[in-house]
Amino acid sequence: MPTKPTKISLISLGCARNLVDSEIILGTLKDYGFAVTDSPRSADIVIVNTCSFIEDAKKESIETILDLVELKNAGRIKGILVTGCLPQRYGKALQRELGEINGFIGVEGFARLPKIINDIMAGKRVYSVTRNPAYLYDWKTPRQALTPRHFAYIKISEGCSHKCSFCVIPKIRGRHRSRGMGSIVAEAQALIGRGVKEINLVGQDTTLYGVDLYRRPALAELLEKLARLKGVRWLRLLYAHPAHFNDGLISVMAGEERVCKYVDVPIQHINDRILKAMRRGTSNASIRDLLARLRGRVPGIAIRTAVIAGFPGETDKEFGELLDFVKEAKFERLGAFVYSEEEGTPAAGSKRAVPEKEKLARWNELMKAQRRVSSENNKRFIGSRFKVLIDEKEASGGGSCMGRTYMDAPEIDGAVYIKGPGIRIGDFVTARITGTLEYDLIGVKEPVK
Ligand code: SF4
Repeated sequence: MPTKPTKISLISLGCARNLVDSEIILGTLKDYGFAVTDSPRSADIVIVNTCSFIEDAKKESIETILDLVELKNAGRIKGILVTGCLPQRYGKALQRELGEINGFIGVEGFARLPKIINDIMAGKRVYSVTRNPAYLYDWKTPRQALTPRHFAYIKISEGCSHKCSFCVIPKIRGRHRSRGMGSIVAEAQALIGRGVKEINLVGQDTTLYGVDLYRRPALAELLEKLARLKGVRWLRLLYAHPAHFNDGLISVMAGEERVCKYVDVPIQHINDRILKAMRRGTSNASIRDLLARLRGRVPGIAIRTAVIAGFPGETDKEFGELLDFVKEAKFERLGAFVYSEEEGTPAAGSKRAVPEKEKLARWNELMKAQRRVSSENNKRFIGSRFKVLIDEKEASGGGSCMGRTYMDAPEIDGAVYIKGPGIRIGDFVTARITGTLEYDLIGVKEPVK
């Protein structure tokens, strides 16, 4: 009598780059005949692919793990495997802390998963976290999509070689390493073949793509190659670094219709002294110059950025400069973070820490200012027409759908709520904007001409 395959469920935490790893984990196990279920409660083994880059992310990872420990203690599941950035960062210390957990692997070694799962099912406790990760997947690596069928992420590089003083990611993910262009193009072609219309390019710093492999920045060339692929509709660039945004890249963004006029480029701050203390390799002037080049050469570009409130030593005046800049620059999309002291980073242990209450107050001011900017920005679009990619449809069948314009990356930006007949998930429809919200738009489907 053939034994029932072990049932796996996976909870993916953190960023889009971690989601790609989660897809590889599931794809690898499925290829080996393991069954995959969406519901942790009906699984034998639950995998948590964790995040640990800041305090809040660590908390969420630990809470998710402890919820599963309760399920295990209640006899609902047989085992828990913790993967990703938390075990990669804390290693054996985490294993000592979490005695109920059956296995730990870091940000690589996914090919060993089938044996690891079988060992756990056989009652063994597994620890397989490698130091100095060097892993890069390629287009043949099995992936089980966790995104809707019409969009996907491609990780074009892994790791980071910058030394931003607040960031622990280089310690977790290792040095910057680019994937071969051929592998990325082949992967994109395969995704398009499976119905993907929007490809989101991710990495820790996508603008450094190629410098290690080809001894020159090659992102512009990669974008051009991908834009020539038959069937691709939207190519989107995420996680760019303001210090490496060359004119060649701006030309491709301006000239290639299939490259979304959208870029995610975290500036983190605008004050020169703080940028220096953050070791960002940028300055007030270089950031202003980049924004002027982007807005000047790519009409209608939507710029997303991220800023940090309360970096150690940040004075009221320096914070004021950042707040004024957010109001002046009118970013289409902005995420603000409260500075999180991360042990092992150069900024940790600073004697000039900003009090928690003050950090939160500054974060609130930034978000308030951005809400106003976003609301004003959106009002410009009343009466405009946009191509909208439909992500969700109202279950009740009331004809309401939710989608995104080129100005919205999946899961992190705004949405368009539109009504109209015959709209399906994954469709591109033309919508006329009839109303606005702080971060979102409201529209109606235009009849196809
Ligand atoms: S560029 Fe800086 S902030 Fe971004 S992952 Fe690298 S070290 Fe961290």
